[in-house]
Amino acid sequence: VLIDSHVNLHHHAFDADRAAVLAGARAAGVGRMVTICDRLDNLATIRAIAEAEPDIFASVGVHPHYAKDFPDLTAETLIALARSGKTVAIGETGLDQHYNHSPLGDQIRSFCAHIEAARATGLPLIVHTREADGLTGDLLTEMGGDGGLRILMHCYTSGMELARTAWGLGGYVSFSGIMTFKNATDVRAVAQAAPLDRVILETDCPYLAPVPHRGRRCEPAFVADVYSAFAQLRGIDVDALKRQVAENFFRLFSKVPR
Ligand SMILES: [Zn+2]
Repeated sequence: VLIDSHVNLHHHAFDADRAAVLAGARAAGVGRMVTICDRLDNLATIRAIAEAEPDIFASVGVHPHYAKDFPDLTAETLIALARSGKTVAIGETGLDQHYNHSPLGDQIRSFCAHIEAARATGLPLIVHTREADGLTGDLLTEMGGDGGLRILMHCYTSGMELARTAWGLGGYVSFSGIMTFKNATDVRAVAQAAPLDRVILETDCPYLAPVPHRGRRCEPAFVADVYSAFAQLRGIDVDALKRQVAENFFRLFSKVPR
């Protein structure tokens, strides 16, 4: 079974043909998807998608881009929301100093609330980080250094050092279609170094369609191409990779039934 650990199914890019996209994913062998919460005012829509489908689960959180729109967000709010709606993870959260859509102070405040909520609930923390390696690593180490945090670095594009920090904290690193992009040498170097029992794969659809679909709308079915690229890079059998990633996924996302 293939697993797409990071899909944005509520995105308007899927409004016209969401059912067909899901059928395509299942036909490609995708057996589990986690649909990601980017804003709390989208949570009801996101949950409705998960509630309607046996193989789709949801996260709860606020993307760093939107941190400024939720100035009163607390860990308590996230913890309460995480009790319902097929919630299997906290996030996505983190720091994005590439776009800086929210001031850094807001991003840090929001990130810390999510970290606290992940610790309290025992749910995995889905971390988005872009051009913020040092600060992200420091916060995760400071608040998760005792082993009380289950970390997933999603759609990884950061450096080797931050990946090693995440692995050192018992965390996982997830690779997306970016791994197939010609210029993504650094991402492939991290994928090459990753302990196989800490690897998660995803599409982050509708963004970042892998080669050979690059430039088109991405769909969960395309996660098959991410699996192929990773297997080829590491010189391992794709069926063995499927088994390994499934094992990793169910270990990390322990609320998702096998
Ligand atoms: Zn992200």
